[in-house]
Amino acid sequence: MSEKVRVRFAPSPTGPLHIGGLRTALFNYLFAKKNGGDFLLRIEDTDQNRYVEGAEAYIIEALNWCGIPFDEGPGKEGNYGPYRQSERKNLYKAYALELIENGHAYYAFDSAESLDFHRKDHEEKGKTFIYNWHNRLKLSNSLSLPTEEVQAKLYAGEDYVIRFKSPQDEQFVLNDIIRGEITIDTNILDDKVLFKSDGMPTYHLANIVDDHLMKITHVIRGEEWLPSMALHELLYKAFGWNAPKFAHLPLIMKPVGKGKLSKRDGEKGGFPVFPLSWNESQGYREAGFFPEAVVNFLALLGWNPGTEQEIFTLDELIESFSLERVNKSGARFDPEKNNWYNQQWLQRKSDEELAQIFIKQLEAQKVTTEISKVKKVVSLIKERAVFVSDFWELSDYFFQSPTTYDDKSVKKQWKEDTPDIMEEVAAILSNISDFESLNIETIVKEWITNKELSFGKVMPPLRLILVGDMKGPHLFDIMELIGKEETIKRINKAINTLSN
Ligand code: GLU
Repeated sequence: MSEKVRVRFAPSPTGPLHIGGLRTALFNYLFAKKNGGDFLLRIEDTDQNRYVEGAEAYIIEALNWCGIPFDEGPGKEGNYGPYRQSERKNLYKAYALELIENGHAYYAFDSAESLDFHRKDHEEKGKTFIYNWHNRLKLSNSLSLPTEEVQAKLYAGEDYVIRFKSPQDEQFVLNDIIRGEITIDTNILDDKVLFKSDGMPTYHLANIVDDHLMKITHVIRGEEWLPSMALHELLYKAFGWNAPKFAHLPLIMKPVGKGKLSKRDGEKGGFPVFPLSWNESQGYREAGFFPEAVVNFLALLGWNPGTEQEIFTLDELIESFSLERVNKSGARFDPEKNNWYNQQWLQRKSDEELAQIFIKQLEAQKVTTEISKVKKVVSLIKERAVFVSDFWELSDYFFQSPTTYDDKSVKKQWKEDTPDIMEEVAAILSNISDFESLNIETIVKEWITNKELSFGKVMPPLRLILVGDMKGPHLFDIMELIGKEETIKRINKAINTLSN
């Protein structure tokens, strides 16, 4: 039997989840669900200096809002917890010592000042200082110093770090599911610190140890971690563990120009780059995006289904997803396309669901109405909307009589004989007992024909009267919804206002 797929999203709680991080989480989720596997959340909070209060709760809320909850993680303990690295901090040192024991790591006592000196010295000679095979024996560590001196330093409680001893003169071949084979010359690798003088592991050590202990089978993460892949593979080898498979996702690029999408791009372009609001930055949720739309457009940022299909439910994404169809090159972020996705998803929502959201907005601005009416209004205007927040502008005249009339339209539509014609229309309407769209339409149109009037003399001014300008859906649908009394009231009001 093949082993169960287990993947993890491993953010550091240093702030809100950027859209790129959210996409990493989504791809992990899709891959896990596609393969009947587990999706874990691991909080990588070993760097206490960069810890931001509230970031972990934000990450969890964002995943839940998107409908991609984790199976194991903080607050959902499975068999491999705890899932916060700060709560696992006591277990890492033994692993660092194990590597010293088997010759793959060493103690280093160099002070910050001495490393700084070497760095500057190299710079002056036009070189770059790398702590590795070519100079480690000239520095202060357990490979260069006599054993007794090392013991004495440790005994005296001198500050030390534990460094990985990266191999010399090897052509190391890596395999990335998305990028294929990558060959690394190990001579360019530095002896990364695995364990710090403050008693905490670095990202590299904690990440590898935890992926191993948590039985992670696939590491799916952003391209920015590709340079760490060689070290990570070497660490697995040094421990004698099987490495998971790696897949490095392409970067999300700015809408225009070069470089990675940043918070500033969002501020400049007026679009969110975070799932939920964070301080003064507005999130997708608060901007009125549906989570289905966010998930849909994120999935297609860097992945392609191999067909023309653009609209996917989460279940359809799970069904179609594969890492082999993730692109290598950066995915350009297109805010217009995001809006298009929201518009598409809005059209797919039931009138009932949209009405429930819209009625809250109406109540907030003190418009009292009934859900049945709101539902009908929504059905008439939703095709023109991208967000529910567009509804009010598209439909205010359903809830309140227009207070102004568009000047240009008045000039064009309001003629000398209009008041008389409108008075007659009001009289006709007042005699209709079944005030229903089709019925009103039949009666009014019959009257127009019998009177030998043109439709242009009646319909456009009537729209102006009811709506305040020339927008809106079918005129008789509007009449039915606002009702007979209100329709006639608006006609009389317009005659009074516009005839002077
Ligand atoms: N803690 C790392 C981050 O913040 C995790 C990278 C990885 O997935 O290995 O992205």
